[in-house]
This record gives sequence, structure tokens and C-alpha cells, in this order.
Amino acid sequence: MATIPTQVRQEPSSQKFPKAIARYLTVGTATVEITETGPRDDDGFAATTVSSCTGCPASDTQSWNTVSYSFSNEEIHRSVTEAAENAEVRARDWAQKHAEKCRAMPTAS
Ligand SMILES: [Zn+2]
Repeated sequence: MATIPTQVRQEPSSQKFPKAIARYLTVGTATVEITETGPRDDDGFAATTVSSCTGCPASDTQSWNTVSYSFSNEEIHRSVTEAAENAEVRARDWAQKHAEKCRAMPTAS
């Protein structure tokens, strides 16, 4: 007889946020770090994906848009996970472009 777990422990706060999901090395040897401000749980919580450069003040914030509008103005609903994936694509695009042109160097601390 198989054992069935009577209780599944959920630990949504076991991960620390903001959480880094990617880093890009700039031509000036600084780093663009991409972080997510919240979990990708599909519970209606919408966070953002933030990119920031360690060499200059440039930063970029992508909202997790769970609702958008089609050309015919119909609402399109997405899961938080899908919205986060879309935000990550836009964030990585920004980070890549910034990393290719930013010549600022991180100052020694
Ligand atoms: Zn920069």
C-alpha cells in the first residue's frame, strides 16, 4: 500500500527576494544584474524584473503584466509564471544591449 502524504508543506518564503536570475558582463567590466522582486507562484502575486548596472546608474524595470490588450481591445490574461517569463525576455534584451555599450567601470570600494 502506497503511503499518501497527509500534508504538503508549503514554504513560499523559503526563497529570498529579490533573487538574481542572470548577470551580464559589460564592456567596461561592470555587471548588469537581473533580479526578480517576488516568486513566480501562480497565486496572483505580480512582481517585477529589475536590471541594474554596477558601473553606472542605468536600470530598467519590467512589470509582470498578467493582463494585456489585443488590437481589438480584448483582455488577454496570463499566468504570473508566463508574465514573469515575458518580463525576463525583455529584461535580458535590455541587459544585453546595455552590456554591449556601457563603458563605465565599477569604482573600487
Ligand atoms: Zn552601465
